[in-house]
Amino acid sequence: MIRAVIFDVGECLVDETTEYSSWADWLGVPRHTFHAMFGAVIAQGRDYRDVFQEFRPGFDLYEEREKRAGVGKAETFGEADLYPDVRDALAALRADGLWLGIAGNQTVRAGKILRELFSSAVDLIGTSDDWGASKPDPGFFDQVAEVVPAARGEMLYVGDRIDNDIRPAAAAGMQTALVHRGPWATIQWNTEEAQKLPTFRVDSLTELAPRIRQFNGREH
Ligand SMILES: [Mg+2]
Repeated sequence: MIRAVIFDVGECLVDETTEYSSWADWLGVPRHTFHAMFGAVIAQGRDYRDVFQEFRPGFDLYEEREKRAGVGKAETFGEADLYPDVRDALAALRADGLWLGIAGNQTVRAGKILRELFSSAVDLIGTSDDWGASKPDPGFFDQVAEVVPAARGEMLYVGDRIDNDIRPAAAAGMQTALVHRGPWATIQWNTEEAQKLPTFRVDSLTELAPRIRQFNGREH
């Protein structure tokens, strides 16, 4: 029985096109080139942050974030950057009586934006910076398990990455949903692990409410 649904942020709720385009601009690299290299780094199984090193060796992401903020170009996102199915999906899940959370690898600054956007739509918002543990570390999912009022097997973690979301959430004993969008899911979708490991594979978040209803119905 699934009683709680917890969402990843980047490329699950938020389309990061604006964000990474702004990083390309900041580096002075054509956007098309930056996005292509981003995909190449993912396909090579490397940490996506290596993309910055490819263009500027020694790049320090934390330092550059501060520099951007200092000149009024801080990383940001808003309602216009949400995938168009997000609001409808959250409303449908909530109408079905499910407990909802958002938990991702996010900065304190992003956590503040998430609270402005989603405080009235979900029950809890937690970030890696709040918790001092980030995905894919088991400690992150232990934090999720601790704050969500359900058993681990009753939680559905929804994300776009096999490596950071689905694999560690499944290892933590949670149900999982892989959403088919963004660079990671697009690149990883046809791998054997992506085909077999998730409880659900969905093209849109609006598929979740009916899939959960069906899943819960089957258990009776
Ligand atoms: Mg993500």
